[in-house]
Amino acid sequence: MRTCVPGYTIEYTNGVLWCRISRCGGFLRCPFKPFTLSLVGGSMHEVSSREILKTLRELNAKRVLIQTPEGLKKEAQALADFLEENGIEAIISGDINYGACDPADREAKLLGCDALIHLGHSYMRLHLEVPTIFVPAFANVDVIPALERNLGEIGKLGRRIALVTTAQHINQLGRAREFLEKKGFDVLVGEGDSRVSWSGQVLGCNFAAAKVDAEGVLFIGAGYFHPLGVAVATGKPTLAVNPYSGDAIWMDEEAERLIRKRWAQIAKAMDAQKFGVITSTKKGQLRLAEAKRIVELLREHGKYARLIAMNHINYRALEGFDFDAYVVVACPRVPIDDYENWRKPVLTPTEVEILLGLRQDYAFDEILGAEREKDESVGVSFHGPGGSL
Ligand code: SF4
Repeated sequence: MRTCVPGYTIEYTNGVLWCRISRCGGFLRCPFKPFTLSLVGGSMHEVSSREILKTLRELNAKRVLIQTPEGLKKEAQALADFLEENGIEAIISGDINYGACDPADREAKLLGCDALIHLGHSYMRLHLEVPTIFVPAFANVDVIPALERNLGEIGKLGRRIALVTTAQHINQLGRAREFLEKKGFDVLVGEGDSRVSWSGQVLGCNFAAAKVDAEGVLFIGAGYFHPLGVAVATGKPTLAVNPYSGDAIWMDEEAERLIRKRWAQIAKAMDAQKFGVITSTKKGQLRLAEAKRIVELLREHGKYARLIAMNHINYRALEGFDFDAYVVVACPRVPIDDYENWRKPVLTPTEVEILLGLRQDYAFDEILGAEREKDESVGVSFHGPGGSL
């Protein structure tokens, strides 16, 4: 730790430079770090445009495709402008992207691009056809005040707690752990698997990092889907602390409500005879073997089942087919988050097993990966043909 400007000291934690404000002990991201970024469009997220440019120059890239989630479209546009000012032709993908499970590397190849820039998500181990730069978006909000405010609730989890978060806050997981340990907690951060980049990271389809020998799970982040998945997948008391609002929400009741809704979907599908079993052509959602297993199971139990492959899975595109119910063997968010937009019952693979009487207990549909050798560095990472950063 060293003094920077009066009133501030510099600390390097978890791959990120922080300015500790001497007066209150709070933290700011260091504004002087080389290549940290142009905060484009004044957004809450940071996009490291200079770091991306440096990597593209090393690759000698002349043309790139930029892929973005909904929330970073302005940043994608600003990045495209920045790259073109610096002599690199940039094309923005207009397709909706929800995760690193769906890299547009095939499209980049088709468009004659030398590289793909995938904004907003961390690297997921997949076979990539062009050099791909993953640019995770870290939220510009300090997680510590929300933890401090909710210490009483966190204490109800027990002393030995699992700590998990999404990619948006992973750069602060080390600080959060340190803070909680100083408050007397025994904090366990699970490694996760090859679908995630860092220990302690969970996805909407993968909660491997939460499955450690703890009394309860503390999730840091916004939204319900991830902590709900954690609660159902681990079966442990789960508390979600939202660093934006400062609120803490227990997931147990929410998890019960979700499971009740899922049993209702299973009940609706009880009389169905004809099943459409959908697999995805998105690389990280393609579960062909599992989809075929479900088709076989349904057929063995006297049902009609047909395999369907889709890229963007939605009910509207399926209207006109003659099925009584669907099984989505792709992203679990589709049947669980979007079922209200489907006019036919829509199930996950584990729910089909319940329907056929092959299992009794409810289980979340997770997509698990292989063992991950090491964590990625916190920041931009480069994978695919051409090596890694
Ligand atoms: Fe997210 Fe679904 Fe992709 Fe998993 S499969 S990373 S939950 S979009």
